[in-house]
Amino acid sequence: MRIAVISDIHGNLEALEATLDRLSQESIDKIVSLGDIVGYGVDPNACVELVRKSCHVSLIGNHDRAALGQLDISYFNPYAKKSVVWTGEMLSEQNRDYIDGLPTMVIDDELSICFVHSTPLKPEEWNYIFTVYDARVNFNFFSEWICFIGHSHQPVYILMNKKGEIYVHGSARLPVDKSLRYIINVGSVGQPRDGNPSSSCVIYDTESRLVELMRTPYNIELTQLKMHKAEIHPFLVERLTYGR
Ligand code: ZN
Repeated sequence: MRIAVISDIHGNLEALEATLDRLSQESIDKIVSLGDIVGYGVDPNACVELVRKSCHVSLIGNHDRAALGQLDISYFNPYAKKSVVWTGEMLSEQNRDYIDGLPTMVIDDELSICFVHSTPLKPEEWNYIFTVYDARVNFNFFSEWICFIGHSHQPVYILMNKKGEIYVHGSARLPVDKSLRYIINVGSVGQPRDGNPSSSCVIYDTESRLVELMRTPYNIELTQLKMHKAEIHPFLVERLTYGR
């Protein structure tokens, strides 16, 4: 089976369409969305509808929760705050209901995989895994072999061996091995922040036991033009050019 894992679309329709287009040529059996479908971008409804149509598993992220008015956004940066309010007003009733029904974490027992937007430890506290310490703590809060996450918008493969030692795997191709455990951040479709502006996601092939990072260029200029027209703050518009 080939599973694609996408995350952090953030209302960026051009990035989502380009990614799904590419996945349609990759003989994918199942697409999993890890949440933050909305927030920042100008196409929240179209993105939710496309996720509903294309993804077999779909999770809620903190921006989705915030757009429903169910999250204290006092800690959000001013850009995120404003965009959450804007997104909340834009979302149709039907799409709000859809988001409201999404789970926070999904476990696939057969494949021994855990899917979550933020962290396996208290997922609705929306913490990040940035350090070896964060990773070590979180490995104790899922029992599956692999945990796929999003949230930081930075793709990374974190490995733990039987002795509890933690490594970061540097290349885009990761052969997975039963003697190790993994936390895999799939990066962001609609707002990458690792210095590469192309959309990010991963494909996991359960037979060849290979995880591959897939970067897809999309029409950033069109996305930015739409954001300008909607009077989104220039900071949010320009960062897409740099993937920061
Ligand atoms: Zn996000």
